[in-house]
Amino acid sequence: MTPVIALVGRPNVGKSTLFNRLTRSRDALVADFPGLTRDRKYGNGLLGDKSYTVIDTGGISGDEEGIDAAMAEQSLAAIDEADIVLFMVDARAGLNVADEAIANHLRVNQKKTWLVVNKTDGLEEHSAMADFWALGLGDPFPIAAAHGRNVTTLIETVLEPF
Ligand code: GDP
Ligand code: MG
Repeated sequence: MTPVIALVGRPNVGKSTLFNRLTRSRDALVADFPGLTRDRKYGNGLLGDKSYTVIDTGGISGDEEGIDAAMAEQSLAAIDEADIVLFMVDARAGLNVADEAIANHLRVNQKKTWLVVNKTDGLEEHSAMADFWALGLGDPFPIAAAHGRNVTTLIETVLEPF
């Protein structure tokens, strides 16, 4: 069985950047425009002899209307399809009310969920993590997707049970 990993979180937290790292594909469009990826995108990756599938999503912003509602729907569909959910937040932006709304949904979901704090490059790791404990999703996992920092450790950790 190939585990499926869903990347969810607000627009612009770095989901597509991580997707590209994990799948080494250029399929996911990465840009400075928040919420550019509106559909689900699928990619495959390999860690040693373990293969996995990653789903990139457009993002959930908390108060959805119009296209945002469609994006949120994609995220919920991705969570349904996943064995592992990586909930990404932005260390630079700090904790956001939308993060709390997403966390509330994920806490009642039965899927194995990891809280991934991205953009920790140039930040002191411990203080960058401090805010995110309040989400009640356990130990925040610091990464810098754009630089690959801690990305291999993350994927090794989440795939460990598979
Ligand atoms: P998405 O909307 O969640 O898919 O976010 P993207 O992957 O498109 O990234 C949004 C912005 O954050 C882009 O400008 C990325 O270059 C930037 N970004 C992503 N990861 C990192 C990181 O680890 N560190 C920093 N400083 N910027 C990042
Ligand atoms: Mg994206």
